[in-house]
Amino acid sequence: MDTVQPSYYITTPIYYVNAAPHLGTSYTSVLADVQARLRRATGHNVMFLTGTDEHGEKVAEAAAEHGMTPQEWCDSLVPAFKELLQLLDVTNDDFIRTTEPRHTAAVQRLMSVIKDNGYIYKGSYDGWYCVPEETYFTDTQVRHADEERGTEGEHLCPDCGRPLQRVQEESWFFKLSAFQDRLLELYRDNPHFVEPEIRRNEVVSFVEGGLKDLSISRTSFDWGIELPFDDGHVTYVWFDALINYLTAVGYGSDEAEFAYRWPAQAHLVGKDIIRFHCVIWPAMLMAAGLPVPEEVFAHGFLTVKNEETGATEKMSKSRGNVVSPATVVDLLGVDGYRYYFMTDVKPGTDGGISWGRMEQVYNTDLANSWGNLVSRTLNMSAKYFDGRTPVMPEGWDTVESPLSQVADGLVDRYLEAMYRFAYDEGAAAVMELVHAANHYIEDMEPWGLAKDPARADELAFVIGSLVEAIRVSAHLLAPLMPSTSAEVLHRLSAEGEVGTRDLKAACAWGGFAQGASVTKGDALFPRLVAEGAAQKGDKAKAAKGGR
Ligand SMILES: [Zn+2]
Repeated sequence: MDTVQPSYYITTPIYYVNAAPHLGTSYTSVLADVQARLRRATGHNVMFLTGTDEHGEKVAEAAAEHGMTPQEWCDSLVPAFKELLQLLDVTNDDFIRTTEPRHTAAVQRLMSVIKDNGYIYKGSYDGWYCVPEETYFTDTQVRHADEERGTEGEHLCPDCGRPLQRVQEESWFFKLSAFQDRLLELYRDNPHFVEPEIRRNEVVSFVEGGLKDLSISRTSFDWGIELPFDDGHVTYVWFDALINYLTAVGYGSDEAEFAYRWPAQAHLVGKDIIRFHCVIWPAMLMAAGLPVPEEVFAHGFLTVKNEETGATEKMSKSRGNVVSPATVVDLLGVDGYRYYFMTDVKPGTDGGISWGRMEQVYNTDLANSWGNLVSRTLNMSAKYFDGRTPVMPEGWDTVESPLSQVADGLVDRYLEAMYRFAYDEGAAAVMELVHAANHYIEDMEPWGLAKDPARADELAFVIGSLVEAIRVSAHLLAPLMPSTSAEVLHRLSAEGEVGTRDLKAACAWGGFAQGASVTKGDALFPRLVAEGAAQKGDKAKAAKGGR
């Protein structure tokens, strides 16, 4: 552990193992991975955590349906989550499972501390429980008859509409009500604690509406972590799950590590679980006398844009519009996948995805602009400079050109956007340089300069400026598209710069290796042929021309 560098601790929610991982899982994971890679490249000592949430009534029920023990059921599902992370080039530093002994120890310790501090008491719970969402509701919150669904008389979940379970049992409670003022103060004093703003407003008005104490233990089933102070009770699965963020950084087991890592810099979550992360979680930490995380960033939902009607729909099996991560990777490649989801859906908002739009973004930004720039420039450099990059006159990098102008201040603009998860804006800033470089080729016509030996210096300046624009763009695109950026740097004999820890220095204008060997290589992003991609997912594989 290098404690001299600043720590950057980022997490995804731990994924609930009730089914195979889906597009939403992969979306949050890549969102976190881009930030983790960016922070590593800017000198942070990164801890990027993801994992699986394995306790609770829903898991116990699903296991029973499949004739397995809950542990066997979890063990059978976890590999698919790990494989998806690998497929998408996600560089998590740890993968936590809530059934691990290290987590049991941390949960029991935190529960004891909160109880010793007077915020946990025994009572009895009489109310409603949504098993699919593992959430409690009071009598006044439930929805009643739903005639269309033929569930008249049943009590339905106000969030998901599914039937609720009546729960009447002895339970331990967390004094959430005691934290209303301190939470409101937190949101007021740290406006970035909940991002984006629309979610902050939602959280503030929820807390202003008053907080009720929360039932945090169950006795009617046993698939969970036993309370350290009452044997027959298992910990409420959300309490258990949230504590994973402490477990993984040494809470109760490694004081030095914990002091260095906590509080986390960013929890990434879906907008549907902000109450747990922005209300219950900081209250739990306050109750235990621990600092709260710096930021909870809530992303939106991915919806599917119906290509025929233009309407935006929820992904569902019954609509037959479920998009699987593997199918998209087949079409766009891993880097194309990452670029599309991270830049075409503005992080924080809901995104209507479509096959047609994927094809369009891929062809426009990656095949025609970025890939084409790399291929044209490297071909010209190899052709005019004997398989090498040009050797430049002294001081060339201080001569202003259309490219040096766009590159000026680019890293700062890019970082300002990327640090606040505005990946669309960060990518757009880099694409300005890419577009400028393509225009520069058209304007300067290097093939004309090459015909006139008297203009050799001009030719070197033009090709050198283009190579430099490519090198800088590759660095800035690396968090989004790690393997193609590494490939580009490799083709420029700059493989030593891959994985730089000082992005700003690496992007200083004028740094390309002069007279270095150039590898032309295959197209980075072969154009998708029109046929197919705009149709359905089952045509996705056929649509990839030439790779
Ligand atoms: Zn529900």
